[in-house]
Amino acid sequence: MTTSLPDIQHNLEDVRERIRCAAASAGRDPDGIRLIAVSKYMTPAHIARAMAAGQRVFGENTVQEALGKLPLIQDPQNEWHFIGHLQTNKARHIAANFAWFHTLDSLKLARMLDRHAGAAGKQLRALLQVNISGDPDKFGLEPEAVTGFVETFLDAGLGAVSLHGLMTIGRRGISESGRRREFTGLRELGDTCAARFGTAHFSELSMGMSDDYEIAISEGATMVRIGSAIFGPRPRQRA
Ligand SMILES: *Cc1c(COP(=O)(O)O)cnc(C)c1O
Repeated sequence: MTTSLPDIQHNLEDVRERIRCAAASAGRDPDGIRLIAVSKYMTPAHIARAMAAGQRVFGENTVQEALGKLPLIQDPQNEWHFIGHLQTNKARHIAANFAWFHTLDSLKLARMLDRHAGAAGKQLRALLQVNISGDPDKFGLEPEAVTGFVETFLDAGLGAVSLHGLMTIGRRGISESGRRREFTGLRELGDTCAARFGTAHFSELSMGMSDDYEIAISEGATMVRIGSAIFGPRPRQRA
């Protein structure tokens, strides 16, 4: 299938400019915000176009797509983030090839990732996925379960998986004020965890997508995960 590519360079420049503006209005340093270009459903040609426009940080959310893009994922110029739900039996591929893992929500998965990252001689940086809105359709830890999980995680003394912060996926179709409350909630939970377990483990907040990243930045996001605003609409939307 040949489709003409959208103007990815223009889109990226636009997103970067909006990130700078949102950071400036919040009195934040824009360099403290990582733009993750979410390339799910996109072809290697799309990714190459983004790389030509200076983008080096990418995200994927399924193992299947990640395996199809391995040469790009293994390109040492790039930093790849896994942002989807992962079954423990697929952990090897992700631990061996990705730098960041955003969706940690069980100790079983942490141990599995640790084993495979260790075997591959890699260090995997992890974020805890939090179901901040209590959405029954979402993965992630309930907010009340987070501090207990962190205690268990840190006690486990895993050598190849390290903890750096929290991630959430906003509930679909809520109002702007509802979305802001979710992001505020994640930031406050991050602050609570940083005070209790140390800022080294809680310096990152991964929140905000194409429709709401400016709100996320005003609430403290350090990583925004942006797909369609860069690459155009996906062929079909996955739940
Ligand atoms: C697809 C996806 C994104 C990007 O979504 P857009 O609305 O296209 O920006 C961000 N985070 C996760 C976890 C995703 O699966």
